Amino acid sequence: MGECNKSMGHPCFDMASRSSVGRIHLAVAPRCNIKCNYCTRKYDCANESRPGVASRVITPIEALRLVREAVAAEPRIQVVGIAGPGDPLSNQATFETLQMVRQNFPDLSLCLSTNGLLLSDKIDLLTDAGLDSLTVTVNTLNESSGARIYDYVSYGGEVLRGIEAAALLRDKQLAGIRQAVERGIRVKVNSVLLPGINEHEMPFLARLLGDMGVSVMNIMPLIPQAKFADLTPVSMVLHHKIRTECAEYIRQIHHCQQCRADAVGLLGNKETLFAC
Ligand code: SF4
Ligand code: SF4
Repeated sequence: MGECNKSMGHPCFDMASRSSVGRIHLAVAPRCNIKCNYCTRKYDCANESRPGVASRVITPIEALRLVREAVAAEPRIQVVGIAGPGDPLSNQATFETLQMVRQNFPDLSLCLSTNGLLLSDKIDLLTDAGLDSLTVTVNTLNESSGARIYDYVSYGGEVLRGIEAAALLRDKQLAGIRQAVERGIRVKVNSVLLPGINEHEMPFLARLLGDMGVSVMNIMPLIPQAKFADLTPVSMVLHHKIRTECAEYIRQIHHCQQCRADAVGLLGNKETLFAC
């Protein structure tokens, strides 16, 4: 094990690191606890929304082997993330994988993306595993918009729909983000820009996230599919305008590649280096 590289940054949080720091996504998390209306489950989670299918779901043991092979082949890989293909926090394999990677590769940074529903419930487990950074997908703070975005939210053995589901998800997301920031985890928020639903809400959301100590915001274009297959994504001009407005409150990232849940290598490298 070499010298600790964590200070070298995260390619998704820091544009400057994207050509010097690589990441590996471990597709150990198939299940999800909510249903976003832009998601088809045969694709990767829209927390990292590129519609490329993860080759297959792997076990924590396979994930550890993959990390070993990846860092041997590409020493610039310094970030290990779990980004689906479902919600990582709904899957016990996520926590087993994080612990195993932390024990075997203490110098690597650990990262995870989530819809945030279980974030406050699992924050102790994440802290124990030494999670360094976190992405939470927050699309709206508004219950009526949320009722249009989410088909259902499943929590504590109950399945909620409509405004009730949206309110619970929002409250849990915000509580989880607050706790993560308090514990020193770097937080990025992803927001999917949904035309006619949430595009006017972005500056308000950006302001709150900035006030909460979130590090960076990633406003992503909609990939029309599932119930939102007929929505037309906002124009690049409007997208840019929204990002510019939001940048007054919180740093924006513009280089997200909307990666697969099993992406490996440097950002922009569309191929996985290894077949799982
Ligand atoms: Fe799909 Fe991710 Fe939404 Fe779950 S949280 S429904 S996997 S986009
Ligand atoms: Fe980074 Fe975006 Fe790829 Fe996630 S999807 S690893 S945020 S570039």
